[in-house]
Amino acid sequence: MTKTKDRITSKEVMEAIKKYITDEDDFLKIKNAYLFAKEKHAGQVRKTGEDYISHPLNVVKILTGVYADVPTLEAAFLHDILEQDCNCTADDLEREFGREVTSLVLGVTKLSNIHFSTENEYLIDYYKKIIVGMSEDVRVIIIKLADSLHNMRTLWALPKERQKAKANEALEILAPIADHLGIHKIKSELEDLALRYLKGEVFYDIAEKLNKSKLERNATVNEMLQEVSNLLNKHEINHEIKGRAKSIYSIYNKLNKGKKFSDIYDLLALRIIVNTEQECYLALGIIHSKFRPLPKRFKDYIAMPKPNMYQSLHTTVFGIDGYLFEIQIRTHEMDEVAENGIASHWAYKEQRDAKEAMKSTTEQKLQFFKAIMELSNEKLSNEEFVNSVKEEVLNNNIYVFTPKGDVIELPRGATPIDFAYKVHSKVGETTVGAIVNNCIVPLNYELQNNDIVKINTNKNSTPSKEWINFVKTAGARNRIKSFFTKNEREVYIERGKYLTEKALRKKKIPFNELFSPENTKIIFDELKIKKLDDLYLNIGNGKTSINTVIHIIYKPEEKIVKKKAPVKIDNNADIIVSGIDNVKVSLANCCNPIFGDDIIGYITKGSGITVHRSNCHNLATLDDRTIEVSWNEKSAKKYVSNLIIYSNTRDNNMVDLVQKISMQDINIERINMVFQREVAVYEVTIYVSGLKQLNNLLLQLDKISYIDKVERLIR
Ligand code: MN
Repeated sequence: MTKTKDRITSKEVMEAIKKYITDEDDFLKIKNAYLFAKEKHAGQVRKTGEDYISHPLNVVKILTGVYADVPTLEAAFLHDILEQDCNCTADDLEREFGREVTSLVLGVTKLSNIHFSTENEYLIDYYKKIIVGMSEDVRVIIIKLADSLHNMRTLWALPKERQKAKANEALEILAPIADHLGIHKIKSELEDLALRYLKGEVFYDIAEKLNKSKLERNATVNEMLQEVSNLLNKHEINHEIKGRAKSIYSIYNKLNKGKKFSDIYDLLALRIIVNTEQECYLALGIIHSKFRPLPKRFKDYIAMPKPNMYQSLHTTVFGIDGYLFEIQIRTHEMDEVAENGIASHWAYKEQRDAKEAMKSTTEQKLQFFKAIMELSNEKLSNEEFVNSVKEEVLNNNIYVFTPKGDVIELPRGATPIDFAYKVHSKVGETTVGAIVNNCIVPLNYELQNNDIVKINTNKNSTPSKEWINFVKTAGARNRIKSFFTKNEREVYIERGKYLTEKALRKKKIPFNELFSPENTKIIFDELKIKKLDDLYLNIGNGKTSINTVIHIIYKPEEKIVKKKAPVKIDNNADIIVSGIDNVKVSLANCCNPIFGDDIIGYITKGSGITVHRSNCHNLATLDDRTIEVSWNEKSAKKYVSNLIIYSNTRDNNMVDLVQKISMQDINIERINMVFQREVAVYEVTIYVSGLKQLNNLLLQLDKISYIDKVERLIR
């Protein structure tokens, strides 16, 4: 392997920075970071034999290629300082460079501390840290990508064993992440470098073949390039046009799928860059009118961008001498996005706005991010989590379309049921059939790239347990499972209806009498609801008890108060049971009573007394073995409480929510995000000291603009 030393000079890097960082103060900040790093790494030598500082210099150089902002460049110079033995702490950094730069350095350091291994436990850590890094600041991941790219370029200096491990890490984790963030430049170089170390023979074989056919190809490409360019000039379309080299890795991939080298027609490739979107289509029309397009090879990623924001027109035409040419047509801005993905914000926005823009792009546009967030929210075992990230997020995804043309990204092997759940869990739940490219297919049909998928639903239909056996995505599988276990709105309503009818039968109250038009109005006014379904929902989820409803119309009879026996207080117990001591008492986990709630005890068969909130709907289904209980005022326990927070937006406010709740001095055990009717809904499990603290929290949450309402969950 060639040992070309990349002798980078600080002068060269400073010039690359100056090209777009024009503010003198900003430049000095970056230079200061360089000098600081140089001093701290002084005396350290890389395995390549160079001074250590050459590594940060190279990383920064790579980052200037995507117009990284000032804090990112500062952090890139400093990124190895905490990890290497540099005699420098995070506090030192913060004093010198401020919080933003320091938190970027800390983020990168956290990622570097995990050493890649195929062992799952390492992977779990790795993915989780990447996820956290992404949700905190995507710039951390971009620095990490540049870091690893330079390490891959100097991989020859490492022992063979380490080479393979690093190359695997690059290929299996970092390149796919670069791809999903749309940073094509870095992705493609990482892949080629990895292939070189993992399958040297294949790599050099392809490189050699490419080299051999290069002259011939160049002549053909140049001729075609000239013809197309003349054609566009004739129609007065300003353009740039260039031949395009396919990466060795992408050729390797195609060969791997059984294609012959000579058949890989997109070896001949052109890229045309024009000024406006309209000119893209214009140019396409002009080219198609002269060169016959190959059927089914045309793709419009302008109207339907890829999930990683990529936009371009793709077509394959019969060019000169019968050669097939793959042509891409896009605007300058699309080209920037195609090369740099999320990092293109740096080039196209004011540098200072770019950070926010990147953040919202990460959160809103990248399905990748969402998919990972969703996965980390599903209740998966660590092993399931890793496999799902690998399968669903990082590898082998297919893109299919809704009938309206929205792109949905799915793992290979996904079925119409996976598709339906990805669109919306309600669609998934009510699926009765699927039509793919105008043909009816079975629900376990394996979707193919570019399929157009229409789901037929019936609002009365429910999921089938059998689906669990063939769905591919953890999201669909979990939601199907949870349909059979968890309470969705519809399930609540049905249960509310059932409980109401049952209670009325038991009390011999005719339905039409309780819900006569006048009574209905009184009940609805009293409970501030509009329709019967709302009432069922409230009864179903335990917000209102059926007795409360009945009592609105029929005033309750005086209760005969049982004579209370003297109470013995056990200071250790948080519940006091009338007349009994030394009995096993537990808090019901359907309604999770907390200190201060109105409570009722239920005498179970054999496992003591379970304490429910007095409005818990489960009490209605239990027979009359209740017993009076009360809280021990001296209790100092923390109680589990489950909240459902309905937001009024699709935005992911999870991080903010966690902050707001933590600010109330409340511990969060778990937070999940799901979508219901197009808005984000959060399920939060917290620990509180009692009703007082909980009510205070509810009050605070009520003030947040993106929150619609908050409910305590009763299962
Ligand atoms: Mn490094």
